[in-house]
Amino acid sequence: MSKVNLDTQVLGLIGYPLGHSISPLIHNYALEYFDLNFVYLAFDLAPEKLKAGINGFRALNVKGVNVTIPHKREVLSLLDEVDDIAQKIGAVNTIVNQQGQLKGYNTDVTGFRRMIEDDGGFSIPNKSALIIGAGGASRAVGTALCEGGIKEIYLVNRTLKKAEKLASFWQDNYPQVSVKAGELNKDFYVPLLGEIDLVVDTTPVGMEPNIEQPPVIATEKFHPGMLVVDLVYNPAQTTILKAAKKQGAETINGLPMLLYQAAEAFKMWTGCEPEVEHWYRLLEKETDMR
Ligand code: NAP
Repeated sequence: MSKVNLDTQVLGLIGYPLGHSISPLIHNYALEYFDLNFVYLAFDLAPEKLKAGINGFRALNVKGVNVTIPHKREVLSLLDEVDDIAQKIGAVNTIVNQQGQLKGYNTDVTGFRRMIEDDGGFSIPNKSALIIGAGGASRAVGTALCEGGIKEIYLVNRTLKKAEKLASFWQDNYPQVSVKAGELNKDFYVPLLGEIDLVVDTTPVGMEPNIEQPPVIATEKFHPGMLVVDLVYNPAQTTILKAAKKQGAETINGLPMLLYQAAEAFKMWTGCEPEVEHWYRLLEKETDMR
């Protein structure tokens, strides 16, 4: 980091509890790389302090903030402006301070799309996808697929009601896409798998420390030509990705999405675009990731 002085500007991350996050590591590395007089800090911000925290950022002219669980939805109403896609999804993961006005964006959507297109070699138009989970990450994934021209989405979730609600949200906003919700039940999804091009697991199943947890769905009908994505990136090879590989499917974990969304946020704040390859090398050196 260049020396902190009177001109140093502040970026950061809000979430609660923050636990482990690689964001301070990668953003401070990029700030140093581009020789920018900023510092990126982690703010463990309890939900009842969210409003005070956001007003504090405005008052103190904090230049930009990443937003993570559990604030992605609640923060919307506290901002001066929200970008169209973030508004549609109802979730903000990046805030940019534009001359005192706080504007919210969602870079998870573009991060996911760039990951499957660039790293997975996947072309979205006219394909069929199965999404598992109906939480915040699922909203970003399904919206990215609808925006990209997917033909069909099957959405399964442990709590059927949540899947139905999210499926009808996509159906209303993207009438050209066929969207069906179902239970996390073999009878519903196994017969579909032969025709599915893309499976996205948006649940935390298999995430550190529960790395032995079996895949959230049955994998016997996964097949070559299918791309299986797990948004979890720690461990790099979750049980669902190992099983998918065994069946001859292509696999990607969620690390590229995390880095792409971070790179986009960094560019919004500073105008400089980090090379994600540098971040992979940093993570190899500093953590046991990748
Ligand atoms: P969330 O809003 O809490 O949603 C979690 C979803 O997973 C819900 O649909 C939940 O089902 C389901 N679920 C949880 N435990 C389950 C279990 N044992 N069996 C079956 N389903 C289960 O969380 P989120 O924000 O969407 O995040 C989900 C995961 O994505 C997390 O692991 C997060 O770290 C990861 N993520 C990664 C990136 C990235 O850049 N790679 C970005 C965002 C999120 P119910 O509705 O039934 O509770």
